[in-house]
Amino acid sequence: MLQSQLFTKTRKEAPKDEVAKNAELLIRAGYIHKEMAGVYSYLPLGLRVLNKIALIIRREMNAIGGQEIFMTTLQNKELWEKTGRWSDEKIDNWFKTKLKNGTEVGIALTHEEMLTAIMAEEIKSYKDLPRSAYQIQTKFRNEARAKSGIMRCREFMMKDLYSFSRDEKEHEAFYEGSKEAYKKVFEGVGIGKVTYLTMASGGIFSKYSHEFQTLTSAGEDLIYICDKCKEAVNKEVIADFKNACPKCGNTKLREEKAVEVGNIFPLGTRFSDALGLQFLDEKGEKKSVVMGSYGIGLGRLMGVIVEVFADEKGIVWPKEVSPFQAHLVSLAGEDTKVKKSADELYKKLTEKGIEVLYDDRGLRPGEKFADSDLIGIPLRIVVSAKTLEADGYEIKDRATGATELVKEDVLLKIFK
Ligand code: ATP
Ligand code: MG
Repeated sequence: MLQSQLFTKTRKEAPKDEVAKNAELLIRAGYIHKEMAGVYSYLPLGLRVLNKIALIIRREMNAIGGQEIFMTTLQNKELWEKTGRWSDEKIDNWFKTKLKNGTEVGIALTHEEMLTAIMAEEIKSYKDLPRSAYQIQTKFRNEARAKSGIMRCREFMMKDLYSFSRDEKEHEAFYEGSKEAYKKVFEGVGIGKVTYLTMASGGIFSKYSHEFQTLTSAGEDLIYICDKCKEAVNKEVIADFKNACPKCGNTKLREEKAVEVGNIFPLGTRFSDALGLQFLDEKGEKKSVVMGSYGIGLGRLMGVIVEVFADEKGIVWPKEVSPFQAHLVSLAGEDTKVKKSADELYKKLTEKGIEVLYDDRGLRPGEKFADSDLIGIPLRIVVSAKTLEADGYEIKDRATGATELVKEDVLLKIFK
């Protein structure tokens, strides 16, 4: 994409009321637009990142048998009454609204009730199980605090998967598999090394659930890491384990600030009992389906990635989620030979299917480099009179700052 055509511009300042580093940098670099506190629009660069994150999540959810669906935002109050969750005392951060005829409806904040009701029409026998389905869809929550940029929003994209199993044993197997799938997601987006499987509190059917917590000083949560097991326990339940690792008993736990990027939750038969999701087992006996729910916040994940890797110059994307694979920066000025060389390289790279943001704007080198650092694409390719003379290109690693002069064949190999 030609940067001269990109409708967003970089800016020196973020909105005055923006306190989160992730949103500040993403706004300044033109990834997102702040509508109001906790409500952000995704602009071309931002949507590219979000879509890459979605692709990685889809890959792993499909790999464990998840079938993608897309449920509605307007929700039927009756379903929520059946599970006893409609009242504001049960859930205090709902947005609700009314139809013209006065009927109350809920605005999606989660989808257990809806999918359980859908499955009740489909699952009849043990032969229909196990199943799982997921969506990537907008959730609305009337959060009290929204000071963490895109990490805590009032409107945000969530991947929510729900599993349906014959019994606890079958559920366990899926649940364990989901842990591995989640690990692959977080490794896939580049934060595997700083993300910990964390024991958290459960609901009425299971004492515990699990969160995936990513270490960052911007975190709202506190977790206690066992460096032997490479797992953690969150603040809510650490006392249950007498401040020791539940796996190995290690009492030297490391307290860290972290952000919950995902969670997995055993639901037992809480929803299937309430909404009539039963099946006939091999003996012809009626049983309730055992369920689980599995969430990941896409925008939160994007914000966390910014928080974890950004430096004083701007964003630093891991290559897996970067909006483009390379940032081609031309320092042609009035030099038509340099311009031609940069144009040709852009054409060659894009023809090979490599995603390139081409800074073809007539700005001073200093401004171009500052913008490039702010936008944070991992690989920069500079074309200038100097590189043309050397019959090569200068490449720069955004994360380390290391530069190198390379010939074209070496450059092309980087993308293999
Ligand atoms: P938290 O404890 O941070 O409030 P939660 O436990 O309520 O989140 P879930 O309802 O389980 O979260 O949602 C699943 C995932 O959705 C979370 O792990 C998180 O990644 C994301 N998420 C939850 N709330 C928000 C929010 N307000 N803004 C952005 N992402 C969110
Ligand atoms: Mg939570």
